[in-house]
Amino acid sequence: MNQEDFKKWIKQVNERIQEQKEYLSELDGAIGDGDHGVNMARGFQEVVNRIETFENPDIGALLQQVAMTLIGKVGGASGPLYGTAFLKAAGVLKGVTECTQSDLILALEEGLKGIKMRGKAEVGDKTMIDVWEPLLSKWKENPETSLKELKAFTAECMEGTRHLEAKKGRAAYLGKRSIGTLDPGSVSSYILFDTLFSNLEDVAS
Ligand code: ADP
Ligand code: MG
Repeated sequence: MNQEDFKKWIKQVNERIQEQKEYLSELDGAIGDGDHGVNMARGFQEVVNRIETFENPDIGALLQQVAMTLIGKVGGASGPLYGTAFLKAAGVLKGVTECTQSDLILALEEGLKGIKMRGKAEVGDKTMIDVWEPLLSKWKENPETSLKELKAFTAECMEGTRHLEAKKGRAAYLGKRSIGTLDPGSVSSYILFDTLFSNLEDVAS
């Protein structure tokens, strides 16, 4: 993937987030404060509004500006978390203009480390990490996994947050009452990865 492919990905993420804005906020309304869709829609729309003005010498530079915009515009817990993820990924892709699959996995793994460093959540806490961590472990261990399988697994991870009790973030205040609803951050992360895999399909074909 080159800078243009990354831009295309980010724009598609924005489209999906705008479409799912109400759904994401509804999920957050059930177990949080109901703003996740609004937060993500505001942040990604701003990224897309600015993306053509970003300096674009390499993928790292592009993602760094995406990160700074997300940090400034998304708000809530998820803004700094997604912002940190993009910032850490940008660090790995500094100077890179053509990103291979293994570069991408490494960058996303750094992104995950950033999310964990900032939010101190672990797998099973009913957060976006329940998508990021199992998915990236699977992809790293089996780099040959088909994109179709990766997409199905991402959906499974997201769905798996339904039966968990939240241990981090606002939903944790609900304790056992958080069981039965999908974690909204897992759904937005699903959108991020599902769109990424669709783009990789396009790049490969
Ligand atoms: P807020 O909770 O401040 O209203 P959002 O509603 O935008 O922020 O985001 C909520 C999402 O953020 C949750 O669904 C969860 O996936 C994620 N999240 C919250 N706290 C953490 C954390 N400590 N680590 C990882 N993800 C978290
Ligand atoms: Mg919220």
